[in-house]
Amino acid sequence: MEVLITGGMGYIGSHTCVEMIEAGMTPIIIDNLCNAKAEVLNRIEQITGVKPLFLQGDIRDEAFLDSLFAAHDIHSVIHFAGLKAVGESVAKPLEYYDNNVNGSLVLARAMRKAGVKRLVFSSSATVYGDPQQVPITESSPVGETTNPYGTSKFMVEQCLTDLVHAEPDWSVTLLRYFNPVGAHPSGLMGEDPQGIPNNLMPFIAQVAVGRREKLAVFGDDYSTKDGTGVRDYIHVMDLASGHIAALKGVGEKAGLHVFNLGTGQGSSVLEMVQAFSQACGKPVAYEICPRRPGDIAECWASTEKAERELGWKATRSVAEMAADTWRWQSNNPQGY
Ligand code: NAD
Ligand code: UDP
Repeated sequence: MEVLITGGMGYIGSHTCVEMIEAGMTPIIIDNLCNAKAEVLNRIEQITGVKPLFLQGDIRDEAFLDSLFAAHDIHSVIHFAGLKAVGESVAKPLEYYDNNVNGSLVLARAMRKAGVKRLVFSSSATVYGDPQQVPITESSPVGETTNPYGTSKFMVEQCLTDLVHAEPDWSVTLLRYFNPVGAHPSGLMGEDPQGIPNNLMPFIAQVAVGRREKLAVFGDDYSTKDGTGVRDYIHVMDLASGHIAALKGVGEKAGLHVFNLGTGQGSSVLEMVQAFSQACGKPVAYEICPRRPGDIAECWASTEKAERELGWKATRSVAEMAADTWRWQSNNPQGY
């Protein structure tokens, strides 16, 4: 079964390709490499023994997509490609809406022309904004986003929802990821942010490996268990298997399907620092700093719907997330 993976050279896409190959599927990757390295392909091959077909190109290039769909018998599409840095999205809203929203529309149009109507979209818990209550269920309010990145995810969700209403033969699955972290247990693949990491886990990892002096902990005066922000961190391999479960569970069913992909457990910044120190066997230097503007206090997923309808549940612990991240980071201190 050939499945088109947009953004498949990136962090989550590449780990999902490994899971797909191991599940007997055939991923075809398209990526413009704006945030990924070609070396990823060799690592996928080292792990699985299979080098997937990779075509370098942009999801906004409709002629490129048309020729791709004409040349292959694509069964369904998992759409990871997009820009994802919250701060950058505030500075460059047009680029974010063009890449994320326009890119998704071009992709959906090319799919329709080719008669491929099964789509899984990488959405984010950011569509829930500052939640009124935790755990967050799929029917919690969405749309009160706080930055162009989050708004772009919400807008794509809305476009795809309207598409399914208008053309009910589509199968669209919106997967709302919580906080993906961790790496492939081989230490061959992991997250490789360019420049200063925005996210907690890669920042901690770079402190531990000596690339950065110390972590700035953004606020210790939230009303959470220890005052620092609480998030639902999910191992990227669990997230990857969530995509296979979605393809198998609802990928053939027409209609709109929405699932949270999280663990249902909240961990604080200081708990993550502690877990990482255990994994790497040394303290991780940190300093308490002011809150980061736009941050929420806490957020974690209700996982009931995914468990009930997809039979999928995250299984990896925070200790494994830290250990696998450390194996990747210490084996590849400068990334790919
Ligand atoms: P990533 O940047 O590692 O991967 C995205 C990939 O898409 C990159 O390889 C990039 O080169 C490619 N790309 C970007 N624009 C493209 C375009 N126009 N045409 C072709 N390729 C393009 O990011 P990731 O962490 O793997 O995230 C994958 C998806 O999941 C994104 O849509 C992201 O918004 C979403 N998501 C990520 C997180 C997270 O914390 N990592 C959380 C929630 C949702
Ligand atoms: N965080 C932090 N220092 C950093 C990066 C993040 O203290 O250098 C905190 C942040 O305030 C939040 C948590 O870590 O409470 C997760 O942040 P991240 O950016 O990884 O994810 P998101 O904010 O998107 O949930």
